[in-house]
Amino acid sequence: MFKAVVIRKDDAGYRAAIETLDESALPEGDVTIRVSHSTLNYKDGLAITGKGPVVRRFPMVPGIDLAGVVTESSHPAWKAGDAVLLNGWGVGETHWGGLAEVARLKGDWLIPQPAAFSPAQAMSIGTAGYTAMLCVMALERHGVTPAQGEILVTGAAGGVGSVAVAVLAKLGYTVVAVSGRPETEAYLRELGASEVLPRESFSAPGKPLAKERWAGAVDVVGGHTLANVCASTKYRGVVAACGLAGGMDFPATVAPFILRGVTLAGIDSVMCPTPDRIEAWRRLGEDLDPARLDLITRSIPLEDAIEVAGQLIAGQVRGRVVIAL
Ligand code: NAP
Repeated sequence: MFKAVVIRKDDAGYRAAIETLDESALPEGDVTIRVSHSTLNYKDGLAITGKGPVVRRFPMVPGIDLAGVVTESSHPAWKAGDAVLLNGWGVGETHWGGLAEVARLKGDWLIPQPAAFSPAQAMSIGTAGYTAMLCVMALERHGVTPAQGEILVTGAAGGVGSVAVAVLAKLGYTVVAVSGRPETEAYLRELGASEVLPRESFSAPGKPLAKERWAGAVDVVGGHTLANVCASTKYRGVVAACGLAGGMDFPATVAPFILRGVTLAGIDSVMCPTPDRIEAWRRLGEDLDPARLDLITRSIPLEDAIEVAGQLIAGQVRGRVVIAL
């Protein structure tokens, strides 16, 4: 028997609760894992609260991330005792996920536990932090260097934003953070931001082109914010877009792209090929100071996951939340 968060949708409505399940209920898969740690990402918040159409099958165990140890495997790459990590691949959406003491899934989705981090630290980073690294790698791939100027990070006090600020600052970039929570300014400066701007400077409809300021940007918000970030990005600057915390729409013009040669780089962590995942985690091992994770992270038991998921979607969670199982 094992404990899990289970989301059900039936005549009684959409609801999440902690349940005790028998292992015979686990889905099909070639690897079984004793999960030691999981985490809450924005997508898990949407799944648990039902505020977004994340869950595609019911009942569902949410949790797009997990770290743990293999207990059984018929997959050639994994054997009992291996420490593994999972991010994405539809886990927690179409296949039972990490908010459970036991998971069974496809060995093809797993990567080895990164040597630089403990399982708890890997979940402190989680999909949010690995996506932040994918954003930084996209800026680099398109030629952005610290010498070119300031990098803007929106939704900076959230999970993706916090890790993006910490990594960019360690790499020597001048980081300007955008946050809707003025009380997070000291936190963001401690992570490495040199300036913190209010969310309202970006969230209202703006002009197609604004004064050029950013050499690059990491945007988790979307909507008018993403449009305004593109409009204020410098000639040949790069905007890595990975989120929709402010909205799914993109009310912009093509002006920044065709008049300033701005690149809009789309970032997806879910179906990202395995070699790119391994490279992102290797880079996190080099470019994220593990001491920063203590500042970013709060640890909670599984029993608190449902309540904290609601707080996350309400924009009240700072940094990252790890779930110790
Ligand atoms: P999070 O921890 O909840 O952070 C989101 C942050 O966005 C909040 O902390 C808040 O930051 C800001 N925010 C929230 N509501 C907002 C609004 N209405 N307008 C403007 N800003 C708002 O979530 P996360 O895990 O970092 O994820 C951030 C986004 O990235 C989500 O949309 C998520 O779905 C997306 N994401 C995408 C991928 C991918 O593969 N593309 C992977 C991971 C995450 P402040 O309080 O500092 O303003």
